Amino acid sequence: MNSILNELVSHWIRPEIRALSAYHVQDATGLVKLDAMENPYTWPDGLRDEWAQLIRGTDVNRYPDPSAGELAARLAESMGVPEGMRLILGNGSDEIIQMICMSLSGPGRCVLSVDPGFVMYRMIATYCGMPYVGVPLAAEDFSLDVSAIRQAMDQYQPAVVFLAYPNNPTGNLFDESHVLEIIEAAPGLVVVDEAYAPFADASFMSRLGQHDNLLVMRTVSKMGLAGLRLGFLAGPPAWLDQFDKVRLPYNINVLTQVSADFALRHKAVFDQQTAHIRDERERVARALAELPGVTVYRSDANFLLLRAPVGRAGEWFEGMKARGILIKNMHGAHPLLSDCLRPTVGTPQENDALLKAFGEVAG
Ligand SMILES: *Cc1c(COP(=O)(O)O)cnc(C)c1O
Repeated sequence: MNSILNELVSHWIRPEIRALSAYHVQDATGLVKLDAMENPYTWPDGLRDEWAQLIRGTDVNRYPDPSAGELAARLAESMGVPEGMRLILGNGSDEIIQMICMSLSGPGRCVLSVDPGFVMYRMIATYCGMPYVGVPLAAEDFSLDVSAIRQAMDQYQPAVVFLAYPNNPTGNLFDESHVLEIIEAAPGLVVVDEAYAPFADASFMSRLGQHDNLLVMRTVSKMGLAGLRLGFLAGPPAWLDQFDKVRLPYNINVLTQVSADFALRHKAVFDQQTAHIRDERERVARALAELPGVTVYRSDANFLLLRAPVGRAGEWFEGMKARGILIKNMHGAHPLLSDCLRPTVGTPQENDALLKAFGEVAG
């Protein structure tokens, strides 16, 4: 080891960055991939051919449309963004979280969210030098502890509160009135992250403009376009005009712009896929709940959170993997998630394989 090099690195890299572990993606080679909330369905051949034609006619020698105007208009229309609201597009909604934090960070400014919640809020807050305040969810049903959140907001005056609706990794939708109470009491912004909107029947999109501090974030990842890396933020132009200044030029590449626009013109295909996934979610949830000692939590997303008997999650996770099924082991991620596993809902065949394997590891 070169100790001078190591000294240089530890001198210059910020301590909070050195303390982080990089975002870990599990190796899925040869496994049924039910760990990352992806849509398991690919495109029908006809659609693929049409898309290939479109890509063939797309030039990559020029920079893309810097504001991705056409795609933004398509997204606004297909996702029901209210008139008068603006959109900003990101290379995944992760990049949007980063733009928000970069615009808000400064002495005394923190990010608040709930735990267990989406890990990127904490990670990106840290990248941007902002303290992260995580308020625990209620232990019984992962609902919002509104009085604890109000107390934390009073104490820490967060610049932004992120709420995933439905929540990841718990899958539940928070009570709408609880979220409204938080929006009304928050000193700064509230970003409602609707990554799982295609699998839920609830949204704050239509409320944009009714609260000065409300923004809604969406992504096309979970509806079936995870490989394109595209998310967006919708809200009053007064906020978004500011965030747009920290957006890197040309952040949405030309292939994503063309492909996402094309996909949204065929949104019915994806709506059908997500409807299948929702049906399968109910079937898989019922079957998992039959396993001895297992609790399955209500999900409005495309994954399920289940609690295995005490002390068994690690062994079950490995047992599933040995049977060719990759899920996510949540045990250890947060005290409220002890013994918890999180499988994504797949195709009916994948789900049958998942249920068979679960039956074996539990049996
Ligand atoms: C998956 C997920 C995202 C990230 O979406 P990308 O657009 O793929 O970056 C954001 N929020 C939540 C709650 C998620 O689960």
